Amino acid sequence: MPATNFVTTTIEAPDTPFDVSLRPPVFSEFAGQAKVRERLELMVAAAKQRGDVLDHVLLSGPPGLGKTTLAYILATAMGVNIKNTSGPTIEKAGDLAGLLTTLERGDVLFIDEIHRLQPAIEEYLYPAMEDFKLDIIIDQGPSARSVRLNLPKFTLIGATTRAGMISSPLRSRFGMTSRLDYYNAEELREIIKRSAGLLGIEIEDDGALEIASRSRGTPRVANNLLKWVRDFAQVKGYARVTRDAADRALSMLDIDRDGFDEMDKRIIEAIVCKFNGGPVGISSLAVAVGEEAGTLEDVNEPYLIMQGYLKRTAQGRVAMPAAYEKLGLKPSAHAQTHAAQEPDLFLKATDGHG
Ligand code: ADP
Repeated sequence: MPATNFVTTTIEAPDTPFDVSLRPPVFSEFAGQAKVRERLELMVAAAKQRGDVLDHVLLSGPPGLGKTTLAYILATAMGVNIKNTSGPTIEKAGDLAGLLTTLERGDVLFIDEIHRLQPAIEEYLYPAMEDFKLDIIIDQGPSARSVRLNLPKFTLIGATTRAGMISSPLRSRFGMTSRLDYYNAEELREIIKRSAGLLGIEIEDDGALEIASRSRGTPRVANNLLKWVRDFAQVKGYARVTRDAADRALSMLDIDRDGFDEMDKRIIEAIVCKFNGGPVGISSLAVAVGEEAGTLEDVNEPYLIMQGYLKRTAQGRVAMPAAYEKLGLKPSAHAQTHAAQEPDLFLKATDGHG
């Protein structure tokens, strides 16, 4: 695994058997996100009391925070089956019909990256979500005709890293929309300790906290760093994961005290040095650091913004004083002005839908 972008690689990778094995199966083992969890648990209890099917749920937030995990927990709590698919893999109306017609009453259809559904497919989804009906066209040319299929009442759980890209007709068809936020170090420490227990790794509290504080608020990163630290500790002869073992292991991966990997450093360096602090558009920035714009937007940027290193303005990304300090530089007057101005546009674009 290239050390330069351990975080990006980890966050962007598809679920591995390792991730799946550490997925908490029930609400009581799901750490953090207290508000979201409480709301979802209440929805489950209410639906069960009424003998009804769970309402459609939209989960948003950066990758690796537990959206898929929650979808599985919801299905388990309701005692139903779950079918897992993603926006880009549903290419034709027939693909959607194939998925929907195999559902039984109450089942969950989980669509990851739902913001990447084609508009035409989205249109098919509306009556399916609202009235549990699917109008499909069969045959072509003059003999083409529309056939209405009655579907069992089901639950759609959508997940997205871009709440702002969900069309309002689609969003309005969800009974509940919730946004997951980055976890704090204490919550991640608990997740790491739970994972260590499952993997049979002996870890000290300080060791777990060291990994937690360098996992950029993301359980998926925390679990993968734990795996790396375990390997390091084993080879270097540590009897258990201590703070020192974790520190040395993570430094070897070039993950610094703030959880930055090489790509994060490259991003703030580019904005500060090459673009004079910004504003800079995402595509120019992507070229400058050699990464895809979508990855920067999904993975690196939300964390850098949340930590106060960057800000999105109508003109582009700007470096905040913390970015200069991180590079050992004095913040420009420009950065200080931005720091004193209105809150980040990013927060406006993605919050407040649930
Ligand atoms: P997303 O769907 O948001 O990308 P996932 O649900 O796939 O994220 O979560 C990534 C991994 O992180 C999971 O496999 C699971 O092991 C772990 N994880 C996520 N959230 C939690 C949590 N709250 N508690 C414990 N482990 C978690």
